[in-house]
Amino acid sequence: MIKIAIQKSGRLFDESIKLLKECGLSIDNGKGQLKAQVRNFPAEILYLRNSDIPFYVEQGIADLAIIGQNVVAEKEVQIEELLTLGFSKCRLSIATPRNTSYHSITDLQGKRIATSYPATLKQYLEKNKVDAAIHLINGSVEIAPSIGLADAICDLVSSGSTLFKNNLIENEVIFKSQAALYGNKDALDKKKTDVEQLVFRMSSVIRARQYKYILFNIPNKSIDAASAILPGLKSPTIVPLIEDDWSSLHSVIKNDDTWDIIDQLKQVGAQGILISDMSKIVV
Ligand code: ATP
Ligand code: MG
Repeated sequence: MIKIAIQKSGRLFDESIKLLKECGLSIDNGKGQLKAQVRNFPAEILYLRNSDIPFYVEQGIADLAIIGQNVVAEKEVQIEELLTLGFSKCRLSIATPRNTSYHSITDLQGKRIATSYPATLKQYLEKNKVDAAIHLINGSVEIAPSIGLADAICDLVSSGSTLFKNNLIENEVIFKSQAALYGNKDALDKKKTDVEQLVFRMSSVIRARQYKYILFNIPNKSIDAASAILPGLKSPTIVPLIEDDWSSLHSVIKNDDTWDIIDQLKQVGAQGILISDMSKIVV
């Protein structure tokens, strides 16, 4: 039986549940619940506070957890990162008010910085030999400068719109984060079979999210030109069409390349281009 910790409510909750379900785990949604048995896999889901999860994994209360890399870095725990998950991307950044000048980190010497991430900030300041006062605030860090509580903040940023609304400029990115799967060291050993099975499923789902399936029709004389445009997992599959001198090509492409590839394929005569999502890629 593996115990998997996820955030009980907050930014990571929906994506964590979705990922576990796509891995075939049948779970009752956690709202208001503390734990839930998985009906079709030897696992139990623990719904916990984000900031508590790293300790629970370190102590072996949970065997696995889905959590932001930033939280693990902040708590300075000894747990294993098994897989990055591609969601909840954000960065921990230092920002200062728009109306103050900022040239480099040494401008923060002797200043007050408000943050919910004191350990990560302290490490960064020490590395840069800057001595500043760190003020721990647990929420709404971005208002600290405007109410006179701090000269700068260090907070999580994703789009930057919260900083913008509060007249703050992002000056230093000190840590880049995304959600990841972590494991307790002993559990990885003792519960190896179940853990490996879940990691295998999760990596197949995560990999599939990074790619699209593409298929299109192409005159036979242009197959080489079209194949050269497709940097798939392997070389494309070619299926002859009933219509003479035409074939259908199938391949897999990276999400980010989709529109570029469509444009290029049209130029070499591709027709009927279909792009679709995949739910798993097993390699
Ligand atoms: P708790 O569950 O203990 O209340 P929390 O208040 O830190 O934790 P959330 O605000 O839901 O929880 O954030 C959870 C995680 O989502 C963060 O630790 C971070 O990894 C990620 N995240 C992604 N983008 C952002 C963002 N713009 N602001 C804050 N967190 C973000
Ligand atoms: Mg919270």
